[in-house]
Amino acid sequence: MKVGVPKETAANERRVALVPETVGRLVKGGLEVLVEHGAGDRAFCPDDAYRAAGATVVSDRAALFGQADVVLKVQAPAPAEVGLCREGAALVALFQPGADPTLVQQLAARKLTAFSLVLLPRITRAQPMDALSSQATVAGYKAVLLAASASGRFLPMLVTAAGTLPPARVLVLGAGVAGLQAIATARRLGAVVSAFDVRPAVKEQVESLGASFLAMEIGEAAETAGGYAKELSEETHRRELAFIAGHVRDADIVITTAQIPGKRAPILITHEAVAGMKPGSVIVDLAAETGGNCEATEPGTEAHRNGVAILGPVNLPATLPLHASQMYAKNVSSFLLHVVKDGRLALDFNDPITRDTCVTHAGEVRHP
Ligand code: NAD
Repeated sequence: MKVGVPKETAANERRVALVPETVGRLVKGGLEVLVEHGAGDRAFCPDDAYRAAGATVVSDRAALFGQADVVLKVQAPAPAEVGLCREGAALVALFQPGADPTLVQQLAARKLTAFSLVLLPRITRAQPMDALSSQATVAGYKAVLLAASASGRFLPMLVTAAGTLPPARVLVLGAGVAGLQAIATARRLGAVVSAFDVRPAVKEQVESLGASFLAMEIGEAAETAGGYAKELSEETHRRELAFIAGHVRDADIVITTAQIPGKRAPILITHEAVAGMKPGSVIVDLAAETGGNCEATEPGTEAHRNGVAILGPVNLPATLPLHASQMYAKNVSSFLLHVVKDGRLALDFNDPITRDTCVTHAGEVRHP
């Protein structure tokens, strides 16, 4: 079975779906790996490292797609890439099928067996394949670095001959995978960190990282059976906005990460709340791609309101391409080894991992 790894073509994408270390793992598993010339360059993985790991480097992009039984990608395939895939081949990537029905129709028309790791069930068995978590870890870490560099102050407390400088106060809204990593990173830089989430279960995790948990009486079940947050009622959301507005006033840096799966991100910081913040404060809105947690966020750029900088970065994992690719490659190769038996794709649709991630198969759309 031939596994093809093309160069990512999306703007600002620097990651690659397989790194040389994981090529070795697949080759040991009996798979043949083809990597497009230069595919790993922007993630600091040169062609020679792929060759040394047992892959074949292919210069002709069409030939790579044409030979591959399985194509591994990071981003959703572009229409031209779907056209290059062999009819009936498989494809694994990290994309939201619901956001692009035309793409899903193209994948089905090409009779591709397409999987999206965005749809992976968050069950213990699937953890090594959990690309949403690995990439959220990168985003949470990088968000703090962006905030630190946009801020006019030190994060740690400094006692110097030129005076004593207090530590920065960092507030993290949403303490899921990205939020917890942001808390840990801000703590390592010496900030005083507090965090809020609608899921009360995260209080212990927040405190174990040395941050304080801001408690608000939610008064309704804010968590689904699967462990995700639910949309709050209008009344509770109104109370939440007032609660957060009271806390962002004291913060030097606010990192927001709140998401509701399949929905627009909830608004947590209103224009009015931004107006109440101190000049020089920084907001990094990690939910910018799904609408933003701050009303003033402009996705992909930096906005300024009364001296407050509001950063709305998109595709942050691509800005740390070496480790983001390493983690993604581990996820995608674990997934591949799960669906391949004896060098062939062996699909068991009773298995939740295979069933939930499969977007199209044999000309049919399984997950719109
Ligand atoms: P996510 O990206 O969907 O959301 C980020 C955070 O935003 C969540 O903690 C959520 O509770 C919070 N949030 C949503 N609405 C909010 C609001 N109005 N106000 C404040 N906070 C709000 O979540 P995620 O980081 O992908 O993970 C969510 C859960 O899944 C966590 O419990 C995590 O531990 C769990 N998880 C489990 C596994 C596994 O068992 N394999 C893997 C990954 C994650």
